[in-house]
Amino acid sequence: MKFVLASHNKGKLEELQSILGELGVEVVLQSEVGLNLEPEENGTTFAENARIKAEAVMKASGLPAIADDSGLCVDALQGGPGVYSARYGGEGLSYGAKNRLLLQNMQGQMPRTCHFACHITCCFPNGDVLDAEGTCQGTVAFVPMGEGGFGFDPVFFVPSLKKTFAQLTAEEKNVISHRGNALRTFAQELKTYLEK
Ligand code: IMP
Repeated sequence: MKFVLASHNKGKLEELQSILGELGVEVVLQSEVGLNLEPEENGTTFAENARIKAEAVMKASGLPAIADDSGLCVDALQGGPGVYSARYGGEGLSYGAKNRLLLQNMQGQMPRTCHFACHITCCFPNGDVLDAEGTCQGTVAFVPMGEGGFGFDPVFFVPSLKKTFAQLTAEEKNVISHRGNALRTFAQELKTYLEK
């Protein structure tokens, strides 16, 4: 069965292919089926935004479509930036500036606990929908540390490893990350669905 990933991100495609390849399914980017959709992500939850993206690509392609939505939720910031993570501090702000803004907004705040969340939705043309969620618990570091990863990785500290996400290899991050956890749950659900 062929699936379309509602994204332009090659890194995400490779991650998905490496996990779903074992199930004998093919995953392609939306550009590979001639689509260039950027639906407005106006949901208030990760699940709503993933659904908006997957549904738009499924309807336009006529193929099952997979989308994900993720972000950082900080307890002392009432769960923010959450679904607004990509837009934190304004669309044009660099990751470095977003991290500095977060540390500034966390000054004097307790607790520093936070989690990353990732929601994956798969919409099938027959109306079936699969949903999977993954999280990863951590704390907001006091200073950015590490060069790897992207986004909030340098300020996301994993207490059990005493390292930020940016100090882990891609493989080490994948074992514990919200996206890795969501992908593994999704792969299980898809396997069960395809065996039905
Ligand atoms: P997206 O859903 O993959 O587009 O991610 C939305 C935003 O959440 C990104 O722009 C990052 O700011 C943040 N984010 C999501 N996942 C991660 C991660 O694994 N590391 C760092 N930041 C992340």
